[in-house]
Amino acid sequence: MDNDGLLCWKCRKVVPYSVCSRKRVRTIGDKKYESIERYGICDICHEELMVPGLDDENERIFDAMFRSQNDLITINEIEQILKKYNIDKRPLSHVLGLGEHTISRYLEGAMPQRKYSDLLRCVLKDHKVMREYLEKNRNCITDIAYRKVDEAINEIERMCARDSKLELFSQYIIHNGYEVTNLSLQKLLYYAKGLSWIILGRDIVEKKCEAWGYGPVFYDIYEKYKSLKSEVIPDYDLTINYEELLSKDEIRVLDYVLDCFGIYNGITLMKLTHKEKPWVETRGGVPEFVASNSVISNELIYEYFEEMNEKYNLTNLNGVENYIRALRTA
Ligand SMILES: [Zn+2]
Repeated sequence: MDNDGLLCWKCRKVVPYSVCSRKRVRTIGDKKYESIERYGICDICHEELMVPGLDDENERIFDAMFRSQNDLITINEIEQILKKYNIDKRPLSHVLGLGEHTISRYLEGAMPQRKYSDLLRCVLKDHKVMREYLEKNRNCITDIAYRKVDEAINEIERMCARDSKLELFSQYIIHNGYEVTNLSLQKLLYYAKGLSWIILGRDIVEKKCEAWGYGPVFYDIYEKYKSLKSEVIPDYDLTINYEELLSKDEIRVLDYVLDCFGIYNGITLMKLTHKEKPWVETRGGVPEFVASNSVISNELIYEYFEEMNEKYNLTNLNGVENYIRALRTA
């Protein structure tokens, strides 16, 4: 009992009631689906009664369960497609060669057929597929709609470029990290530099970073994601096989950096780097947050992490945690 009472048709008055759960089996096609649904019971006569909102809730739960069991695209994923490609429901229907209102109906809860669900998943996952459909059905949408999608895909392609090792490391971090932003990415790459020196005896990053107002920054990578400002960087290219492109050692270091530092947001990571000698010394007294692009020498970073390794043992998670705690309370 957790309520003010509802009208019971049998008792003919407002009664206290309880919400209980029961198993419900539905048959769709040739498959049976079992779900738990909630329903109301009159506390006086024990008849079932209508509790506002419960039916909707039961349907939502069933819908989610049904889609997940059949691996069908969810409404949320369809919304992601609209956002990713900066396209509206109607033009998306046209681009994919579907009926004009198809996407609207899916968004209202209509269940897509298997083949359309697979198509939508494919489009969500791979912008190259979206590009193909866009060009094929270009004449079915307005020029304005076309340009919007074209720009969105160009931007995605730019962010998916991986001409350098550092770009690939960045994508690996975005793919495996937790809510990675441009700010946190810079710091994670910096720690990959320091920790790979300790763990592998070589710097997997190689490229030098600069001591900016907000901590160490790799200029090219910073520029690449600059347009996102402080937003989480979307993991746009889900087709990359990292095991093929990165060495075991590189993956080991990046995973370790994510384990050690990946739980912190960009600001927290920035604050850590502001207490570390490589950044402080390179800044040469320029106050925090003030622009400067002095290059942090690799040697300074190696020496610093060697020193910290002797003190804390940075080759295991505990050691790094102690190191972080010491910095945060310093
Ligand atoms: Zn009753």
